[in-house]
Amino acid sequence: MKPIRCLVSLHSWERVSADDGSARFRRCRRCGKHDYPDAGDAGNWAAGALGG
Ligand SMILES: [Zn+2]
Repeated sequence: MKPIRCLVSLHSWERVSADDGSARFRRCRRCGKHDYPDAGDAGNWAAGALGG
């Protein structure tokens, strides 16, 4: 069962990076959910990372 704050989308985000620095994303410290910023927010880095 997820923490109640996570169920209402109040995740405790921490910023994490891939080992080689090629990608950056957020992870919730409580439930472990990963989240990726919108392409419009930081477009250039995501261009290659999300394609496959
Ligand atoms: Zn969470």
